[in-house]
Amino acid sequence: MYNPHSSRADEFICHREVLDSLAYAEKNRTNRELIRSILDKAGQYRGLSHREALVLLDCGIDEFNREILDLAQRIKEEFYGNRIVLFAPLYLSNHCVNGCVYCPYHSRNVHMPRIKLTQEEIGKEVIALQDMGHKRLAIESGEHPRINPIEYILESIGTIYNTKHRNGAIRRVNVNIAATTVENYRKLKDAGIGTYILFQETYHQLSYESLHPTGPKHNYSYHTEAMDRAMRGGVDDVGLGVLFGLEQHRYEFTALLMHAEHLEAAFGVGPHTISVPRIRKADGIDPDRFVNGIDDDAFVKLVACLRISVPYTGIIMSTRESKSCREKIIRYGVSQISGGSRTSVGGYRDPEDEKSGDSAQFEVNDARTLDEVVRWLMDLGHIPSFCTACYREGRTGDRFMKLCKNRQIHNCCQPNALMTLKEYLEDYATTETKRTGDLLIYREFDRIPNKNAQRIVRDNLAAIESGKRDFRL
Ligand code: SF4
Ligand code: SF4
Repeated sequence: MYNPHSSRADEFICHREVLDSLAYAEKNRTNRELIRSILDKAGQYRGLSHREALVLLDCGIDEFNREILDLAQRIKEEFYGNRIVLFAPLYLSNHCVNGCVYCPYHSRNVHMPRIKLTQEEIGKEVIALQDMGHKRLAIESGEHPRINPIEYILESIGTIYNTKHRNGAIRRVNVNIAATTVENYRKLKDAGIGTYILFQETYHQLSYESLHPTGPKHNYSYHTEAMDRAMRGGVDDVGLGVLFGLEQHRYEFTALLMHAEHLEAAFGVGPHTISVPRIRKADGIDPDRFVNGIDDDAFVKLVACLRISVPYTGIIMSTRESKSCREKIIRYGVSQISGGSRTSVGGYRDPEDEKSGDSAQFEVNDARTLDEVVRWLMDLGHIPSFCTACYREGRTGDRFMKLCKNRQIHNCCQPNALMTLKEYLEDYATTETKRTGDLLIYREFDRIPNKNAQRIVRDNLAAIESGKRDFRL
């Protein structure tokens, strides 16, 4: 039976409830009265239940579909302004004991060169990332208890934070590693991680079990209940995600929102982020064998419906998506994107290295440099932000959510975006990007919500120009 308060995966992601919700939404695709009432509720910016959200996703009335996109855009502007936070993935090791059929790192792939970075190599990767201008990383590693134990991950986090090159510094390390124990989550928290990210891949248990035929990841409940253990271990910013294309997207959308409802019900804090990757081509992986892929228009609507349903949760889109697709979707709710990404182990320090090039987890669809991404964002009217302030100021979990829900977080995001962009422009930007960025900062300065913050930012921008770094509110 569906119970969002339960700690059991089969109760908070209740298959029967997902099926009933799918049938309910199907039946009400053209129910004007119901859809109107859901849109009115969504317009109060307090989010929607999974059933209400699914009715919008399934809505078959054109004028309401346009309204859904408009509302998503309004919520994005209200909560996140025109800022887009930038990050990069850093692959530490692709040794993996699991058998995920959609991932080239699966244990039976004998073509895949297996690489585990040493601490010295991690330092070189981090310097390459710092020299691009990155401040925020998401580390990725295959699951291999002997080769990639938690001690290796912790040591790597230490190396990343301690590596400093010129004015560079990685100020926030998010972690995307396999489901683990409460004790290990506590160790990650103590190591100073930002968000713990774990993609569910698919919430459909039978599909999940057949897509993960071997290895510890086969255990659906252990994987699905990982965020509960992370929360109990003190990691209060967690990031959800599914790999769209593995199962029917309506099913995933519903279950993903049920997972968010569960975290809110059980811990009083919803997910910090939701990632929306779509399956991509990779070594030995043909995305066409997965029949549940969604086209760009359905994807836009899905992101818009997520934006409306969980206004306080950041939405992340990676370089799996092409420039044109990102351009289309960003305005409907995305708040974070990756830029200049390499999806191979060791791919930053030596992009031409054949060995690391062959070790890519998936093909990127957006291969532009970070500088090109930054300039493109600005040309589209967004502020690229390298902000990492919240967790460093202790604004995590329920403290963070409270600020979001009161719409106070905006008071920090806008100043931090401008100050961190200024750092980027001074240290890493090409002449053209710097010119565009300085003009943007000048224009956006007046949108800083209060006079006191404006004064602080003005002083700090001048200090950044004279060589000082790392200001934040
Ligand atoms: Fe291993 Fe993760 Fe790839 Fe599965 S998805 S094979 S766990 S690296
Ligand atoms: Fe994110 Fe906090 Fe920075 Fe805003 S102030 S961009 S919420 S880290």
